[in-house]
Amino acid sequence: MVNENIIKQIKDYAELNNVPIMMDESINFIMKYIKDNNIKNILEIGTAIGYSAIMMSSVDSDIFITTIERDEKRYLEALKNIKKLKLEDRIQLIYHDALDVKLEDTYDLILIDAAKAQNQKFFQKFEKNLAPRGTIITDNMQFHGLVEQENKDIKSRNLRQLVRKVKDYKTFLEKNIRYETKLYNIGDGLAISRKL
Ligand code: SAH
Ligand code: MG
Repeated sequence: MVNENIIKQIKDYAELNNVPIMMDESINFIMKYIKDNNIKNILEIGTAIGYSAIMMSSVDSDIFITTIERDEKRYLEALKNIKKLKLEDRIQLIYHDALDVKLEDTYDLILIDAAKAQNQKFFQKFEKNLAPRGTIITDNMQFHGLVEQENKDIKSRNLRQLVRKVKDYKTFLEKNIRYETKLYNIGDGLAISRKL
């Protein structure tokens, strides 16, 4: 089990500094998925301050996580949190833009939780690192509820484009016959894409 006090501190920091960490419902679902499917090696795109990586690592003591973050302040905060919990042997942090990172290892699970407009790029870049019958999970498929809204009701043009991207990604997943994708109404929407 992870230290509840430190987790509370991490969540408070996220709240105070507007760091968009995963919702309780979502991380709980993912932790159960990791347990039920005996997942041991995880790649995460979008560390933020390490919250989701720490939670996922707490499912079992033989789980290893590689996680990528491009924002320096968040990366440093993640590093601090992971050291505080003595998890540096099990959580490897990469400070880089994920789109420029080349990885050789394979992972049972890839969690995409970074820039929402880039979801398809992340998927296509890292699927070669997915183990046979592995799973790709994408967070924020509802994009703060905006995906359900009529596009014309979204005022900013920028935001409209982002929402369109998330919708296009959803279509991309649904049409991808090499994966079986299920969309869950959990938290801000989770897509579970299992490689066939
Ligand atoms: N998974 C985290 C939350 C991640 S928030 C948790 O639940 O605890 C999304 C993060 O993705 C942000 O910190 C942002 O800086 C990072 N990010 C966005 N695009 C990225 C990219 N191309 N490469 C690396 N990190 C990226
Ligand atoms: Mg998220």
